[in-house]
Amino acid sequence: MTAIQKIKGTNDILPDGFGEEIFRSSLWRFAEQTMTDLALRYGYAEIRTPIFESAELFIHSVGEETDIVRKEMFRFTDRGERDLVLRPEGTAGVVRAWIENKLGAHDPVSRLFYHGQMFRAERPQKGRYRQFHQFGVECIGGADARHDVEVIMLFWDLLQTLGVKRIRLEINSVGCAHCRPQYREALKAHFASSLDGLCADCRERYDKNILRMLDCKNPACQEILCTAPAMTASLCAVCAAAWQELQARLTALHLPWTANPRLVRGLDYYTRTAFEIVHDSIGAQATIAGGGRYDGLIGASGGADTPAVGGALGIERLLLAMQSESRTPPAAPVPEYCFILLDENCESQLEEALYALRARGVFAMHAEGSKQIAKQMRAASRLGARYAVFIGGDEWQAGDVLIKDMQSGAQKAYPVPPCGLAAFLLEHFFGETMRRIERGL
Ligand code: ATP
Ligand code: MG
Repeated sequence: MTAIQKIKGTNDILPDGFGEEIFRSSLWRFAEQTMTDLALRYGYAEIRTPIFESAELFIHSVGEETDIVRKEMFRFTDRGERDLVLRPEGTAGVVRAWIENKLGAHDPVSRLFYHGQMFRAERPQKGRYRQFHQFGVECIGGADARHDVEVIMLFWDLLQTLGVKRIRLEINSVGCAHCRPQYREALKAHFASSLDGLCADCRERYDKNILRMLDCKNPACQEILCTAPAMTASLCAVCAAAWQELQARLTALHLPWTANPRLVRGLDYYTRTAFEIVHDSIGAQATIAGGGRYDGLIGASGGADTPAVGGALGIERLLLAMQSESRTPPAAPVPEYCFILLDENCESQLEEALYALRARGVFAMHAEGSKQIAKQMRAASRLGARYAVFIGGDEWQAGDVLIKDMQSGAQKAYPVPPCGLAAFLLEHFFGETMRRIERGL
């Protein structure tokens, strides 16, 4: 049988030494750990929602006229005839869970973060996949520009922490239900005479969701769309004040922002702040993170009217950015001791010591694969072990254990005390650790 291959647009995340650099599990673990630590430090608690939810949830909260709902959802009917979708984004599920589990019952502001797979039926290319991963945060109940800044700062800080420096922050305000209708009219009037030059999608958006038109990726459309009037010029007084405050707060924190009048979120639920963090050298899929305020969503989803702001970062794009800036994760841990078996009759003693060390938190391995010492030694050095421990042979028979420092090549025989090999190695390990600490290593 020909071997079955992975589905187009999905990726295996593999051990070091295999596959593309950005799909190494050590890098993912490092990025996910850094994100988790940072989000916890900002007071965000983790939430994990199901990977599939009702189609209705996404149609309602992402919006019928968005690309995600129109073209990109993996939608299926299960055996009970339920209409389901593999989640294309995180906010809808988090908001559902927040309402359903009454997460707002105790605190006025719920700070939540998540990371995991998302699914969109898009044309796969570098930085764009059908199964991809996002890290996202939602600050539910956060009503002020202060909360917008907190969310933006969290992503900015994360990228800095991971050594991604060549980034830009773009911001915009999409106004609110009071001021957006006039802006829509202004856009309609502005583009009425240039519709012929726009793509079919844009012409459809012109009628159904004109704001979304601004976000078209087609270069020919962009040339026409860049003449659009800015939303920030027609904000109502409340939105204008929030827009000014956002800028002032970002400037006070030395965040180098630029206003991008074409930055939009597609739906009426999305209000005021929209932001993106863009990287300069990861190619066409340059937006690493994006988000904004969605004051209307929770009320429109069956919850009490609650303001909120959030954002999401594409982990694959983050790793591409790290790669383009030559950032690598810290070296993976290596075994402290690697056992080399010289005599098969001694295997039970080896196993006993191996598991006793592991039980005490010491990384120990048995170099497998061959009875030949040379091959076992090569395996130990491939693993990067600090010490090789020889079990069996003449020294062993005489009551000694031979330990070889894999870096210096020096080896020494130690008498095994009555308390046994594992106890001896533990003492050896703590002695070595102390010496390393003293030497500042
Ligand atoms: P794009 O304009 O690139 O399609 P988007 O506006 O659809 O992005 P969001 O829904 O705002 O993206 O998702 C936030 C982030 O998730 C994006 O900035 C990007 O880093 C990542 N992302 C979105 N879609 C994909 C995908 N298909 N593959 C990989 N990453 C993605
Ligand atoms: Mg998209």
